[in-house]
Amino acid sequence: MPEETFVIVGASLAGAKAAETLREEGFAGRIVLMGEEIERPYERPPLSKGFLLGQEAREKAHVHPADWYDKHDVELRLGMAAARIDRAAKQVWPAGGEPIGYDRLLLTTGASPRQLDVPGSKLEGIHYLRSMGDSAKLREAIAHGGRRVVVAGAGWIGLETAAAARTYRNDVTVIEPESAPLHRVLGPEVGEIFAGLHRKHGVDLRLDQGVAGFWGAGQVSAVVTSGGAEIPADVVIVGIGVRPNTALAEEAGLEVSNGIVVDEALRTSDPDIFAAGDVAAAYHPLLGRRIRVEHWANALDGGPAAARSMLGQEVSYDKIPYFFSDQYELGMEMAGAFSPGEYDEVVFRGDLDELEFIAFWLAGGKVVAGMNVNVWDVTDDIQALIRAGRPVDRDRLADAKIALTEV
Ligand SMILES: Cc1cc2nc3c(=O)[nH]c(=O)nc-3n(C[C@H](O)[C@H](O)[C@H](O)COP(=O)(O)OP(=O)(O)OC[C@H]3O[C@@H](n4cnc5c(N)ncnc54)[C@H](O)[C@@H]3O)c2cc1C
Repeated sequence: MPEETFVIVGASLAGAKAAETLREEGFAGRIVLMGEEIERPYERPPLSKGFLLGQEAREKAHVHPADWYDKHDVELRLGMAAARIDRAAKQVWPAGGEPIGYDRLLLTTGASPRQLDVPGSKLEGIHYLRSMGDSAKLREAIAHGGRRVVVAGAGWIGLETAAAARTYRNDVTVIEPESAPLHRVLGPEVGEIFAGLHRKHGVDLRLDQGVAGFWGAGQVSAVVTSGGAEIPADVVIVGIGVRPNTALAEEAGLEVSNGIVVDEALRTSDPDIFAAGDVAAAYHPLLGRRIRVEHWANALDGGPAAARSMLGQEVSYDKIPYFFSDQYELGMEMAGAFSPGEYDEVVFRGDLDELEFIAFWLAGGKVVAGMNVNVWDVTDDIQALIRAGRPVDRDRLADAKIALTEV
């Protein structure tokens, strides 16, 4: 039988981990890992934390050492964007290059920052954060301190970069259209805690207002809010969410709906094409619905799961969404998923004032999500509570003296 070729489009965490798993599982055929960026695959969390703060070296972010790809016979094609998929001929066409035939194809094209489309949005000094280059550029802009930094959006990226900008001793204002930071992902109860944290660190948090436009002559000099306020700015950071990179899949006629639609085996509507990571809207067998997860752990686990599926193994990808963040002295992990309005109450255990607690989101008496803040080694127990899917005693849940395994 001729050697099979597996092509992976998107040389980032999910793609690189998929290539690794293919080799670990004994795949002896050809692997092509194609990526638009010129940097070899890397992890993005440090870009708004240690790398942005100058505490973590570039090398630490890479998924594999430079020689790993050759050693494992993985053809890493950097600076190469896939422009088109010809499903009938089973070929991927790189922009301006020769087509590459595939037996199985994996799409790990990730996501890109949503752009603010308001007057002045093309001025110099307005930053978005996705790539290593973006992070290095932003660091250069804020690392010397003493600048007026305005952050548009109090989501994870907005808050982490606000914390970094404060750590570098800049004046920081955060503008957010919702009534609390992280409102859409955490709801108001826990969002308030993040508001308190940032205010304590001197961030001017302007809630219930969005960005209406920017002033400046070439370089941004002020941000105008929807409330009419004009906030002087030397540096602007826009963190208003991401969009999945689905154009390639869409043009190839694959089913796309807020991400590339895949089943629980991460297979698309074409049986030879798979998708994983930020770009995949996957059916989650435990939750009983399709979700698209924009978190590091989902790229780390989803890439390998897709690889096993490509090899014909039976895969039911049912990891509970998991996320982590670090801001100032607050470190947290979160497991679970819900949408605004999908939970009834939040139960806390621990000390909110000392920022050492766990928050549980309950729906119909069952735990649907949990966040541990400066409390460690509990995420497995929290995930077990979510997985159990049984009503819990809320008083026992709130009582830190009772082990989570006993709740
Ligand atoms: C600054 C930052 C901080 C973060 N911090 C955290 C955190 O603390 N915790 C957490 O859980 N998550 C965090 N995340 C999210 C996490 O990094 C993502 O979930 C993860 O990167 C998704 O990996 P991926 O491989 O699916 O996609 P991506 O990392 O988006 O990579 C996709 C790759 O595909 C390439 N590509 C796209 N289209 C094509 C094409 N047509 N041809 C070739 N290549 C293409 C892209 O250039 C990119 O390199 C953070 C993200 C950012 C940006």
